[in-house]
Amino acid sequence: MLTIVPIPAFTDNYLWVIHDDANAIAIDPGDALPVIDYLAAHDLALSAILITHHHYDHVGGIGALKQWCGENIPVYAPETSNIKGRTHTADPTKMVSIAALGLDFKVLSLPGHTLDHIAFYSATHGLCFCGDVLFAGGCGRLREGTSLEAQHSLAQLRALPIETQIFCAHEYTLANLRFALIVEPNNVALKARIAVETQKRAENKPTLPTTIGLEIATNPFLRWDASEVKLAAERASSGTIDRNASPDEIFGAIRAWKDRF
Ligand SMILES: [Zn+2]
Repeated sequence: MLTIVPIPAFTDNYLWVIHDDANAIAIDPGDALPVIDYLAAHDLALSAILITHHHYDHVGGIGALKQWCGENIPVYAPETSNIKGRTHTADPTKMVSIAALGLDFKVLSLPGHTLDHIAFYSATHGLCFCGDVLFAGGCGRLREGTSLEAQHSLAQLRALPIETQIFCAHEYTLANLRFALIVEPNNVALKARIAVETQKRAENKPTLPTTIGLEIATNPFLRWDASEVKLAAERASSGTIDRNASPDEIFGAIRAWKDRF
């Protein structure tokens, strides 16, 4: 039986831990202390660290975690020169297998937010740890990649089974959904979702994980083929694209609008 826990860090990050009451995996430990506190409080041994991309709030705790649990801990990370402590390169050519927890992850290459960005996807368990590529109701800013790369990356996630649970690295949901409602004021599923997520935050509960199905229904960054999103993109681009624009152009116009929002 696996438990997946979001450990809050910084202002709005979630550092995810998967465990079976004995062994654990830490995903994107940007800060070591809250992860160590959790592992120690629950008497868990750390089996591996998984890293989705090189930003400090995802990698900052690797060194201290290795000091705490031993230098031999495997660290699976993308091939980027500035990830210190990586022991294994994670790329789509090979599975990441964590024997202690019986978990096998396929690595998805998802450039856009950064060029090195990857996600860890377990088809058997229906889990995807996607870092800053996809958020509940939103997506990561394009810090390094193009809108074409980012839209192709999001299309990969959109093609996962709809029940796949998505573990994002930030609690941005309510702000994202406020923007989504401006893009699609007539989206009934979106309005219903806003009520549900607002209630969760009022009770100080995480809105994550989300599912691919819920994101397909409510997240404008996965809805480049919805007519209301196309119209909004056309308006936001001041006429530089029209309704016949390609998915990446529609995505790009909505992303640029959100950046100004
Ligand atoms: Zn990032």
